[in-house]
Amino acid sequence: MAPGKHDWKTLFIDYDVAKQRYLKAVKDHHINTGLISTNAGIQRVIKDIENKVIKTEHFVVKLRRRRKYLYQKRRTRFFRILSDEETFDTVLKHHFGLKHQHERLTISIVRKYYSVSQRNIRAALNACTRCYPQPPPPDTRIKLPGGRTWRLNIVPFAINVLPDVSNYLLVYKENMTNFVILRPIPIEFEGMVVTLLKICLEFGPPNVVLVSEKLDFYKDLLQKPVTIGFSPKITVRLIPADIIANDTAEVEAELTKWCEENENKDWDIGCHIVQLKMNTTKKKIIRFGKPTQELEIPYNLMFRGEANNML
Ligand SMILES: [Zn+2]
Repeated sequence: MAPGKHDWKTLFIDYDVAKQRYLKAVKDHHINTGLISTNAGIQRVIKDIENKVIKTEHFVVKLRRRRKYLYQKRRTRFFRILSDEETFDTVLKHHFGLKHQHERLTISIVRKYYSVSQRNIRAALNACTRCYPQPPPPDTRIKLPGGRTWRLNIVPFAINVLPDVSNYLLVYKENMTNFVILRPIPIEFEGMVVTLLKICLEFGPPNVVLVSEKLDFYKDLLQKPVTIGFSPKITVRLIPADIIANDTAEVEAELTKWCEENENKDWDIGCHIVQLKMNTTKKKIIRFGKPTQELEIPYNLMFRGEANNML
């Protein structure tokens, strides 16, 4: 399906403009699905796998034409992981090969060989300056990502009373990776909504939120991102209390330790530092329902961005 060896970059489209459009869309819409998005990031993971820093069955390094590539393994098949730049080039090559038509076919061909999301492919197609001399209006074809399940708990945290903030702590954990977000949260409902909206803006809205109590309260709280059109639907479900209690206990222990080491300084700052620490430490991933399954995955394999962006 690959097109001929003509210099496709300058053929038909304004390559640089299209690429800037694509990269902007990826950034603005948090399009990446959580796999690695830069060439450097891919190389780093390859190195970590070869040096056995990462032990995983789900990612495999393969040598092809004297270059090392990273593949994701799904069942018995391997899909090459592309950086954003590689995704753009790969999608556009196929897009030109199919004469700027057959969008769905383009998507399925790319996804047959590569580990890349539909949203990401669409962003590249939407960036084509021939199909769209003017950039397509945002949000018409690109949806904000959801797809992630998060565990949520809001608890009192009163080790040190803060003057301007209510003493509640939000513990928000991604269900598969245990990536954690910690925030001081006001106890007034509107303030809680604002804190949650900020998190949704930064990390993308959730698809499913798991809680262990007060189902109606959390449903109300998570209705707001839906009513302002931020997310099509957020499902809130109850799960066994011990899972949420474990999340909270782990965070409380870390945060209490930070407060003690820093002579009870403001924990609204401490929770960001604890969050960074918890997310950058390689940890055992315990998936809901399968407490024996263990995987060591650094969060930047799952999430875009370096640690200092994640405070
Ligand atoms: Zn086109």
